[in-house]
Amino acid sequence: MRVGVSVVIPVFNEQEGLTQLFERLYPALDALGRSYEIVFVDDGSADGSVALLREQYQRRPDVTRVVVLARNAGQHRAILAAFAYARGDYVITLDADLQNPPEEIAKLVAAMDAGADYVGTVRVRRQDVLWRKAASRLMNRLREGTTSIRISDQGCMLRGYDRSVIDAVNRCTEVSTYVPALAYTFARHPVEIEVAHAERTVGQSKYSLLRLIRLNFDLMTGFSVAPLQFFSMSGIVIAFLSLVFVAYLAIRRLVMGPEAEGVFTLFGIAFFLIGMALLGLGVVGEYVGRIYEQVRQRPRYTVAAVLGGDAEPVQLPERRRTAREAQE
Ligand code: UDP
Ligand code: MG
Repeated sequence: MRVGVSVVIPVFNEQEGLTQLFERLYPALDALGRSYEIVFVDDGSADGSVALLREQYQRRPDVTRVVVLARNAGQHRAILAAFAYARGDYVITLDADLQNPPEEIAKLVAAMDAGADYVGTVRVRRQDVLWRKAASRLMNRLREGTTSIRISDQGCMLRGYDRSVIDAVNRCTEVSTYVPALAYTFARHPVEIEVAHAERTVGQSKYSLLRLIRLNFDLMTGFSVAPLQFFSMSGIVIAFLSLVFVAYLAIRRLVMGPEAEGVFTLFGIAFFLIGMALLGLGVVGEYVGRIYEQVRQRPRYTVAAVLGGDAEPVQLPERRRTAREAQE
C-alpha cells in the first residue's frame, strides 16, 4: 500500500514531550488533505517512550506505525531503520522534541509538489546554545570546502525526500552515515527553504559534545577524503622544506664549522611536526575504523518489534541496470 506522505520521527528517551508532539503533529497532518503515515522509531529508549508510542498506536492505528529498535543505534541509523519501513511518496523527517514545528511540514510538501526531490531547511533564528551555533558554522565551512554537498544548515533534521531518493538511500549499506548528506548525493532537484525553530522546552539534548564530534567525523570521512589529502599534501611540503634545510645546514657546517645554538627552536619545530604526525595518524585511524566497522558487516540496527503495517521492510523496486551491465 502506498501513502502520500510518511513522517519519520526518531525517539530516544523523549517521554516528557511526546504527548505534546502528538497533540500538534496529528492535526497538522490531517490538515494536509492527503494520505499519510507517521513512522515513529524508538531508538532504544529506557524511559516510558515506548509505552507512550504504543498507546498512541492504539489511538490512531490507521496512520501510526512504530518501529522499536532493540538497542540505541543513534539518530541517523534509527532514521535509516524507519526509511526501510516508510511507504510514502514523500518522506519527511522530524525531531521528536518539537524544535522543528510540525506545522512547517506543509511547506516541505508544497516544495516537493513543485518538483523538488530533496527539501533542505534553514532555521530562521536558530534557538540553540551559542557554542553549538558556532561549531555548526565552522563545520559548514569545512564541509563546503571539502565536499560537493551543499547544505546551508546541516543540523536541521526537518527535511523532505522524494521516494526515488529514499529508494536510493535504502540501497546503501554504509554503517556510519549522515542521512541528509547521503540523501543529497542522490538528489537531482535539491532546494532549501526556511523554517521556524523553537527552543527545546522539555527533556534534554541527546547529543553530548563527544557524540557531536563523532557525528561530524561521520560527515567528513563519509563523504570526502580531503582530510587524508591534506596530510599527504602537507607531508610533501614539509619533506621538501626539510630537504632545503638539510642542504643549508650541510653547507653551513663546511663553511662555518659546528654550531649548537637554536636548540629550543629546533624543539619547537620538532614538537609541531610530532603533533601534526599524531593528528594525521588519528585521521587515518578514523577512516580505518570505519572500514573495519564496514567489513565486519554487522547489522546497523536490530528491529525488536513493528506496530502497524507490514512487519517486513518495504520491498525495493528492481534497480535499473547501468549501461555497462546491460551490455554484458
Ligand atoms: N535521537 C535518537 N537517538 C539518539 C539521539 C537522538 O533517536 O541516539 C533523536 C531524539 O529523540 C530527537 C532527535 O533524535 O528526536 C534529535 O535529538 P536532539 O533533540 O537531542 O538533538 P539536538 O536537537 O540537540 O541536535
Ligand atoms: Mg533537538
